[in-house]
Amino acid sequence: MFDYQAPSQLLKDKVILVTGAGDGIGKAAAITYAKHGATVILLGRTTKKLDAVYDYIERHHLPQAAIVPLNLDGAGEHDYIELANTIEAEFGHLDGILHNAGILGERTPISTYDPTLFDKVMRINVTSQLLLTQTLLPLMQRAQNASVIFTSSGVGRKAKANWGAYAISKFATEAMMQLFSSELAELSPNIRANAINPGATRTSMRASAYPEEDPDTLPTPEEIMPLYLYLMGEDSLTTNGKSLDAQ
Ligand code: NAP
Repeated sequence: MFDYQAPSQLLKDKVILVTGAGDGIGKAAAITYAKHGATVILLGRTTKKLDAVYDYIERHHLPQAAIVPLNLDGAGEHDYIELANTIEAEFGHLDGILHNAGILGERTPISTYDPTLFDKVMRINVTSQLLLTQTLLPLMQRAQNASVIFTSSGVGRKAKANWGAYAISKFATEAMMQLFSSELAELSPNIRANAINPGATRTSMRASAYPEEDPDTLPTPEEIMPLYLYLMGEDSLTTNGKSLDAQ
């Protein structure tokens, strides 16, 4: 596991947006960030799941969260602008984004990959990250320091047979991170961008990719959180443009 022990109040007073915050790694990250003092904006597709995370945060007397139900497949420019306006009105700035939401698509050969599904995977896994980051940039420019974390994958560095649109979307994610990182170094040096490869983690996405695997052999999302904390907090202020492994 990535070796980092976060101070208990690492993210005190920080406002952080987590996409796909209702389940899996995003849910663990949202709760972990709240436990380290952050006000977390929970963005996701299924309101019931977001409500459950919100309630957990409230029950444990952590900083009150905010919920943004948004289906990233089909979200339009106006949805992102509305989100930015809401964050501005509520908090005035933004200290971080964890781009975590994603779908697997189908594990089939690229030669016969369904083009409609290809577009959908790219919209959710890639385009939504572009639109969110672009729209929220002015709010991050107002932060003292801001961190944008993208979520990659092993197949985003070396594509493997039958990983289709998912692998391509993760290569694109690595490229997007590198572009934001190098360009923002000039434009807004207070904002850094990095990527995390979570590694095999016990979630429903992993179970659909590997139905034969025993999930109990895998680390839980909670166990891979040290890197998520490191990159979001100020101990990583000089880390920019890196793609790191959580495990
Ligand atoms: P997961 O359990 O399937 O969670 C994915 C999250 O993304 C869910 O909260 C889901 O919301 C949300 N999401 C999916 N489509 C969405 C949409 N159209 N609009 C808004 N939210 C949407 O997967 P996970 O394993 O935690 O994966 C999290 C990230 O890690 C992904 O980027 C994945 O590619 C990456 N990753 C995971 C592993 C692994 O072994 N688990 C390994 C490498 C990389 P709903 O629950 O409401 O559908």
